This record gives sequence, C-alpha cells and structure tokens, in this order.
Amino acid sequence: MRRRSSASAIASKRAPAPPARLHATGNGAGDPAWAWEERRWRGAVNRVRAGRSLKPARWKNGARMCVALSFDSDHETSTLREGSTSPGRLAQGEYGARVGVPRILELLRRHDLRASFFVPGVVAALHPDEQRRVVAEGHEVAMHGWIHEGTSELTEVVERDLMRRAFDTLAKIAGRPPVGVRVPSWDFSATTLPLIRELGLLYDSSLMADDEPYELLDDGVPTGIVELPVEWIKDDAPYLGMNRATAIRPYTAPSAVLEIFRAEFEGALAEGGLFVLTMHPHIIGHRSRIAILEELIRYMKGMPGVWFATHAEVARYCKATV
Ligand SMILES: [Zn+2]
Repeated sequence: MRRRSSASAIASKRAPAPPARLHATGNGAGDPAWAWEERRWRGAVNRVRAGRSLKPARWKNGARMCVALSFDSDHETSTLREGSTSPGRLAQGEYGARVGVPRILELLRRHDLRASFFVPGVVAALHPDEQRRVVAEGHEVAMHGWIHEGTSELTEVVERDLMRRAFDTLAKIAGRPPVGVRVPSWDFSATTLPLIRELGLLYDSSLMADDEPYELLDDGVPTGIVELPVEWIKDDAPYLGMNRATAIRPYTAPSAVLEIFRAEFEGALAEGGLFVLTMHPHIIGHRSRIAILEELIRYMKGMPGVWFATHAEVARYCKATV
C-alpha cells in the first residue's frame, strides 16, 4: 500500500517531458534513442565492433595461458582532469608517483616480471624520470590520454590534437614511440579508432567485448588493431577508489578483491586464455593492498604454464600467431 501511494504521489508531481535534446548521451545528439530508425541504432553498434578472435591455440613457449599486468599511472591527473587544482586532492595522486610506482617496481623486480604502464602525457611531463626508470627496468610505457580527459566529450579535432601531443610526449620522454593505448576511463569515443589507426598503433586496451584478444572492426572493416580487453571486475579502482566529494568509497576489503582477481585468473587458466589486470599506483600502492598483489603474483607464479607479458608483447604475439 505504501509503495502504491508513493508511486501515485510521484506520478501526480511528474513534470512535463523535457525537450528531446536533453536525452543526448556521449557522442550522441538530438532525439531520444527510442525514436531512432534501424539504420541509426545499427550504425551506432557497428561503428566499433569485435572482429575475429586473436586467441592463440598456444601461448608463447607452449604456455597454457597469459597474464598481462597493467598499471594506469593517473597520479595527479585524476584530480586535474576535473579542472581541480586542490593541493589536498592532488596529493592523493602524488602518492602514486612518490610511493606507489617505486613499490610496484620493487615488487615486479623481485618476481622478475614485466608489466605495462599506461601514462597520461601530463603525468609523463610531470614525472619524466619515473617513465625512464619504468622503461629501463624492462616495462612498457603506453598511452593514456593527455590529462585523463573524458574522450567522448571531445570533438574529433581536439581528440586528435590530444592524442598526438600524448604520443609525442611519451615518445620523447620514454625514448621510444608507444605502440598501444588505453583510453582514459576506457571512454572510447566514436572517433577514437580512426585516430588509433592514424597513429599506427599496434593495440588498444580499453574495450570489453570479450575475455580474449580480438581484432577491432572499423565500420565492419578489419583494422589489424589488436584489442586486449579490460573489465571493471579486473580493476582495483571500483573496489578500492576513494573520493571524499562523491559516493566513491573503498567498499570492498582487499582480501575480497584478491578473491575476485584470483577467480578471474583461475577462469582464464581453465580456458587457456588471457588475464588482463588493471591497477593504479595511487590505489594498489598502499601497504594493505600491495600485499594482495604480491599474494596474487605468488599464486599465479605457482601455476605451471603461465606466460607473464607486457601488453605490447601479447599483442605482437597474437597478431603474428593467429
Ligand atoms: Zn586512468
């Protein structure tokens, strides 16, 4: 009864429908989706699509599966991207550079593992020595936007300019041109794929259409670009992120995060597939959390036939093998 009365109260207060323009989302504009003709919704879906699977029959050196660890070094850009200059909030990201990355590099060195670091252009410019050290220790530095901008809010002209700036900055600082990209917040726009092709990149790691590597289709046309898919499930931020001004809180215990990551790894092992894990130095780098990463690494290394590789190595292997 109570539910019914509150529902009718809402109905009686219902405002007139807003103008159609307010329904626009992302790169869309204009009338609401329910009014679209088939050509339009089909075209939107086909804009960027998963093509053939690039899952190899066997991984490198006969390995059963592949683990690709990645760290998105957002650092201060997780605050700057919102236009905020608060020293208090910037310090939360600074921790990633000051403590997180050194701790991660030390852990990787101890276990003799190579990983990929996705770095915004601004972060590379703020912390050039960090990028040089990451490369010197055998890891990959790849693209992650300019200032962690929301890509789908940009025009194509601005998106191209920022991608080129990010590419040039990383190439100069890391000493070699990046071969891969992870779009900030995985916010892949309708114009991102042609720009990836313009830059001649080997792979993207921002989309979610599969567990296994696949080839990206650009309006139905195979591109040769390798997609190394991600998922929020395999990301530390949704479980452990913290923003005082929003409802973002670390709701999940590190032990529970370990349990989820381990189950994802075990599933990939059972299927002979790929396990891509996304982490952030300012999140996973804390004492109570770097501990679960080490425990996970120990567990994975204890399994026979696991190939640990950077994203670039995985993409090259899949492209050459499948
Ligand atoms: Zn990021």
